[in-house]
Amino acid sequence: MSYVNEVITRVIKENPNEPEFHQAVKEVLLSLEPVVAKHEAQMRRDALLERLVNPERQLKFRVPWIDDNGQVHVNTGYRVQFNSAIGPYKGGLRLHPSVNLGIIKFLGFEQIFKNSLTGLPIGGGKGGSDFDPKGKTDREIMAFCQSFMTELAKHIGEDTDVPAGDIGTGAREIGYMFGQYKRLRNKFTGVLTGKGLPFGGSLARTQATGYGLLYITQEMLRCHDIDLSGKTICVSGAGNVAIYAIEKAQQLGAKVVTCSDSTGWIYDEEGIDVALLKEIKEVKRARLTEYLAGRPHAQYRDGKGVWSIPCDIALPCATQNELHLEDAKQLVANGVIAVAEGANMPTTEDATNYFHEQGVYFLPAKAANAGGVATSALEMSQNSERLHWTFDEVDAMLKDIMVQLYHNIDDAAAKYGFDGNYVVGANIAGFEKVMEAMNAQGIV
Ligand code: NDP
Repeated sequence: MSYVNEVITRVIKENPNEPEFHQAVKEVLLSLEPVVAKHEAQMRRDALLERLVNPERQLKFRVPWIDDNGQVHVNTGYRVQFNSAIGPYKGGLRLHPSVNLGIIKFLGFEQIFKNSLTGLPIGGGKGGSDFDPKGKTDREIMAFCQSFMTELAKHIGEDTDVPAGDIGTGAREIGYMFGQYKRLRNKFTGVLTGKGLPFGGSLARTQATGYGLLYITQEMLRCHDIDLSGKTICVSGAGNVAIYAIEKAQQLGAKVVTCSDSTGWIYDEEGIDVALLKEIKEVKRARLTEYLAGRPHAQYRDGKGVWSIPCDIALPCATQNELHLEDAKQLVANGVIAVAEGANMPTTEDATNYFHEQGVYFLPAKAANAGGVATSALEMSQNSERLHWTFDEVDAMLKDIMVQLYHNIDDAAAKYGFDGNYVVGANIAGFEKVMEAMNAQGIV
């Protein structure tokens, strides 16, 4: 059995009931075969892959909080500090009832390579809780966030581990967590990113993941002599990533015709009204059905269905494993030319393979959505310098990072004979830097 397959087998055996983590490890390690083949003896001796797939530290803790009726609830909190070879652990906090250790490990593992690809000095980590913010009052959200941070504060710090937002964790939750950290530590530091602008947040961080997704997609298309302007795009999700992907796509002259949340989806033939979408999701925190009140000509349907609409470009921006083989077949039959992942691992393995077989340009999440964490790293730099850069400065840096990132993964794929396979390119380019740092730091 090859070294890579031995390690995958061990991961499956030693981490039972963690299918998302298995999926992420398999996807990354199998694509690293050409690099492993070059260095196999040394990597085996140093158990490099075994160390790579084992988090440096994983925390699981109780989060008790009191609701508005005086009832106590207990959720589980997680922080997986996966790899600090190239910088402090960095990655978001997901608040969603589906959260478990396997999901946090899959996200933390992916984060190692994504962070490496940004070219910035940040290691990989991820955290969260099975707490469901939906339907909770502000006071209940605050009670949860304060309790969560009371334990998490013991393990993080501006030079150790700098968490950020993710599904269910936006500016409001980061604000409550930051307030509690400051109170516990009596220190005002850049311990979290995604903060509000008056207390160390960076301009353009809110927009960064969605904007970055469009910058890299545009660069990839440009390099294949295709203009993004005039294209029809299907987006899934209606959260932070989806909203700003839609906004930037429209600024670049494309037409986005769909969005979705966990209950249903919208098809707006004339193009999604992004101001209305922001009002519904960012201000009212309401369901997508409300979209019809402002845009009566649009269609709303329950359940899933975004990928049935014909488009040139598909941008899955909701959650993991939301684009299946049947969806991929329908997209290809409808003439899709490019898919770029705004969410983390939204495309299943067989769907990804199908896109490759059909010659669809496919940008994987760890490259395509790296703009968020890259801008978080820019927020860390501003906090360290006690400076505040303008929106245009941050946006220009984000664009440069995404353009450079595209060329790095394109070059890495070509170097190993996988021209145009950005999945392989991203894994290899992200891994090589981490491997070099791990080798230089000895057996730790
Ligand atoms: P949000 O919570 O802001 O939005 C998530 C969106 O996806 C919502 O519309 C939500 O619908 C929908 N959704 C979530 N879970 C499910 C599900 N199980 N089934 C169907 N729909 C679902 O999160 P973000 O936009 O921040 O994150 C979206 C994705 O992007 C995630 O995979 C995240 O890890 C990834 N990501 C985010 C970054 C960021 O900067 N925010 C950076 C890099 C990656 P509803 O509101 O009904 O729950």
